[in-house]
Amino acid sequence: MKILVLNSGSSTLKTSLYEIATAPHDDPPAAVWEGLIEWQGSCADIRTSSPLGVRSRNRIQINSRKQVIEKLLSDLWTGAAPLLKAPSEIGVVGHRIVHGGEEFSEPAIVTPRLKDVVRRMSEFAPLHNPYGLEGIEIIEEILSGAPQVAVFDTAFHRTLPESASVYAGPYEWLARGIRRYGFHGINHQYCAERAARLLGRDLRSLKLVTCHLGNGCSLAAVRGGRSVDTTMGFTPLEGLMMGTRAGSIDPGILIYLMRQNHLTTDQLDELLNKKSGLAGVSGISNDMRQIVSAMNSGNSRAKLAFDIFIHRLTSLIGSMVTVLGGIDALVFTAGIGENSAEVRSATCATLEFLGARLDFTKNSQAPRDGDISASDSRIRILVIRAQEDWAIARACWDLGHARASSF
Ligand code: ADP
Repeated sequence: MKILVLNSGSSTLKTSLYEIATAPHDDPPAAVWEGLIEWQGSCADIRTSSPLGVRSRNRIQINSRKQVIEKLLSDLWTGAAPLLKAPSEIGVVGHRIVHGGEEFSEPAIVTPRLKDVVRRMSEFAPLHNPYGLEGIEIIEEILSGAPQVAVFDTAFHRTLPESASVYAGPYEWLARGIRRYGFHGINHQYCAERAARLLGRDLRSLKLVTCHLGNGCSLAAVRGGRSVDTTMGFTPLEGLMMGTRAGSIDPGILIYLMRQNHLTTDQLDELLNKKSGLAGVSGISNDMRQIVSAMNSGNSRAKLAFDIFIHRLTSLIGSMVTVLGGIDALVFTAGIGENSAEVRSATCATLEFLGARLDFTKNSQAPRDGDISASDSRIRILVIRAQEDWAIARACWDLGHARASSF
């Protein structure tokens, strides 16, 4: 089956084509084709590639977003070496949808009702859901007839107990949908399953803390394959310090700023989402590479930003371990988690009381998927490459198989 995956955001659209002949192997395969659109004002940069290398690169004027997406996808069936004879060869299209609200706890076939929910949840995820919905509707037009599947970032956290998901505000908030939803669920779930495979253990017997550390950062406490706590909440702003987001802060600061500086909601939004985090504290960058490099050159604000990042990370890992009542493995994933040996070693140094001990050679070699703990470590420490597109493709295959329709 040929499965096209779309991951649409406000500034980029990432897409991949997977080909699954029989039951998918446990080890993720490479995509047979990948495409990327970077939306830049009135222009769009389009790039496509295959395992053999770059296939095409274009910068075009945006007349409509549909036309740009059509141009990107047409590389599959036109161009010098088409991979498909016709668009109809695509068996199913999977979409990453950030917010599925209360209704969706599993990947689901796109229906008018599902689209209504995604539209309604746009209020809670304004930077993500509208673009996911746009992707669904554009595919309806370009590949009319292809079944589509929505895979939700919130779905994995639907197993949170109420004690973790209900905020300690007025009880009426709950009826209004104000509760902890949690995000990055597609990758937290993938990492939990992959960790069990790498460890050769049954997922149902494991207590895991998965650390998704990218531009956005979140933790999940996973017991027996189910999410029982997570650090992001009603929005992806809660929890850890991130590239440009503050993570959790005393809400009293907001009241103070509104009273003293008469800040508007848009100004607060900008401060907390774009002017905080690593960038806000360091004044240098939201990129951990630049923070580490400036810190190593003696920049004190970069060091402070790094130290706060590690302090928040380790204190919230402690909180996840407490909720789990122990830990078998700690998983690092996403841009920082996979690549920053400095972040992993500073984190594990603080967690030594839990018996976490890194193998420093393995840590510095940064394996794509592997165990970097020392042989005498009491817990396993893993690095797992985030593979959201593959997780979505696999969910599409599983759903088709469960319906025995293969689409
Ligand atoms: P997104 O959340 O947008 O998917 P990624 O998971 O790709 O983002 O993470 C991007 C971040 O990863 C960058 O902003 C940077 O801070 C970090 N990063 C990427 N490569 C490295 C590296 N070699 N060392 C440290 N940090 C890195």
